[in-house]
Amino acid sequence: MEQPTLPPLRLKKNEERRLRAGHLWIFSNEVDVERTPLTAFEPGDAVRVLTHGGRSVGTAYVNPHTLICARLMSRGAEPVLDRSLIRHRLNLALGLREKLYDEPFYRLVYGESDGLPGLVVDRFGDVLVVQLTTAGMERRRETVVEALVRALRPSGVLLRNDNPIRELEGLPAYVETAHGEVPEAVELREHGLRYRVAPRQGQKTGWYFDQHANRGRLARYARGARVLDAFSYIGGFGLAAAGAGAQAVLCVDASETALEGVRTNAALNGLENRVETLAGDAFDALKALHEAGERFDMVVLDPPAFIKRKKDLRRGTEAYRRLNQRGLRLLGREGFLCTASCSYHLPRATLREVLARTARHLDRGLQITEQGHQAPDHPVHPAIPETEYLKVLFARAFRS
Ligand code: SAH
Repeated sequence: MEQPTLPPLRLKKNEERRLRAGHLWIFSNEVDVERTPLTAFEPGDAVRVLTHGGRSVGTAYVNPHTLICARLMSRGAEPVLDRSLIRHRLNLALGLREKLYDEPFYRLVYGESDGLPGLVVDRFGDVLVVQLTTAGMERRRETVVEALVRALRPSGVLLRNDNPIRELEGLPAYVETAHGEVPEAVELREHGLRYRVAPRQGQKTGWYFDQHANRGRLARYARGARVLDAFSYIGGFGLAAAGAGAQAVLCVDASETALEGVRTNAALNGLENRVETLAGDAFDALKALHEAGERFDMVVLDPPAFIKRKKDLRRGTEAYRRLNQRGLRLLGREGFLCTASCSYHLPRATLREVLARTARHLDRGLQITEQGHQAPDHPVHPAIPETEYLKVLFARAFRS
């Protein structure tokens, strides 16, 4: 069957360079709006992207209301995001995870890095939790769900479309079962432990798969240790430490619901005798613990992003400094710090600098033993720096 031709979206002169280098985003100031006004499009419309001179760059879907006004879906001239393209990209994504993971618990689709801009899918065995974050993907939700059902035969597919970034795209917030049944709680296994996760009520999709490898790294540091897990959520790091033989673990989080999850998960693994919880602001809690003379052999700091926008850089960096100072202070004569930042805008080198300065300030020696990244189910797109965001440093602190 002959495909209808897509309407063109023309770029200004030389504005195809980033796309030619592999990136997928088109910013609204790069479009030749005199020849192809963005206002002529509805959010989610498919277009043919053309250079100023009229050469084809590929196909994309647009949103005339956002700064990123179009995302490239293919380099060919075929219709954007049709059924077969989505199926193909999904199978590529699945192939990578099946190769790298022994069990079906991972991020199955990581947006741009998997050639599916605006789509995130987390897999909890038979249950899939989907986030559609752009108008282009929202428009194709039936096709996406159908492709997922076809590829994985899941027992349930949940749309967790309540991510606040949808607002930028003019999309409503909703949570909806799109296929089969989705229970209130699902279980996953990680490094030999069981975790119960709430896909509907939990944060994001219910679980932070990006820290998988780093939670695995924790084991050898944690044996026999007294461990503080700050920003614990439902116990990812803390239970990994307890499971590896930590003598006592204290999980701190601002969310009482998250801490209830810690207790449930501790019991699920028979670790309840070695895991305690403390509700409150982690900055305050760390300060209070220090003042009470508490000391730990290991401190884990895995806060939410303090720098969400570039303009928060200075204030956010200062928050990382304060937090790491409070964490380091809690280590005894010798101890280990595992500190993370999921702020894309904070360079890894800056996080190292923050640690270096803090260690000097506290007159401690510091050795970075390992540097962690986001797990491989969050692959980095080599041309899209925005797809790389997670930095983790493991360090020994001592009195020299
Ligand atoms: N370490 C977790 C993920 C942490 S996500 C894991 O491995 O799964 C960040 C957590 O920080 C969330 O659970 C959130 O409730 C908590 N949080 C956010 N701000 C906080 C604050 N000021 N004090 C304590 N916890 C906070």
